[in-house]
Amino acid sequence: MNVNHADIVISAVQPEQYPKINLPEIALAGRSNVGKSSFINTLVNRKNLARTSGKPGKTQTLNFYIIEDCLHFVDVPGYGYAKVSKTERAKWGQMIETYLTEREQLRAVVSLIDMRHAPSAEDVQMYEFLKYYNIPVIVVATKCDKIPRGKWNKHESMIKKKLDFDPSDDFIIFSSETKEGKDKAWKAIESYMD
Ligand code: GDP
Repeated sequence: MNVNHADIVISAVQPEQYPKINLPEIALAGRSNVGKSSFINTLVNRKNLARTSGKPGKTQTLNFYIIEDCLHFVDVPGYGYAKVSKTERAKWGQMIETYLTEREQLRAVVSLIDMRHAPSAEDVQMYEFLKYYNIPVIVVATKCDKIPRGKWNKHESMIKKKLDFDPSDDFIIFSSETKEGKDKAWKAIESYMD
């Protein structure tokens, strides 16, 4: 998709605040700093639509973006941020769980994983959660520009093995620096839009 229009609709913490308009939704999840904001900005051809989530004190909200009047991106706050208290983490978990399990128009989740490292326990937990609820997953391995191309296969295998990756899900090698994988990511997303 070639995006000319993308806007924030609402930052929500509870279902009453979710947009009422019935559009297909793609949620995006990943550890803080994985490159989620950069991924969103790359896909919608903007520099700063989604703001970086890795900052302490950043509000933990579900940010709904409308894309070309035909799709919502739902930016799920980054997990694995060490400075968040237990209570905040529990609230985060509840909010995400409610959204992922109850939102009818949710079509797929883009699960972002830093391609340089083995998936964290939380990455694995998120993937298992999505599989358990039969939510289609698009795994996006981020920051591939930081790995020599000759090692991409090795890293892909390592990530898939740790996740116990289901071959019916998409796996996309991505970089917001080089735009590698941008078209493939859109193709995967569009396949869930009809
Ligand atoms: P978020 O916290 O998941 O939203 O992550 P951000 O998109 O804010 O990115 C976190 C850091 O990683 C920033 O310093 C980005 O510039 C950097 N970054 C994000 N994507 C890439 C990428 O594809 N390649 C490289 N080299 N750096 C990236």
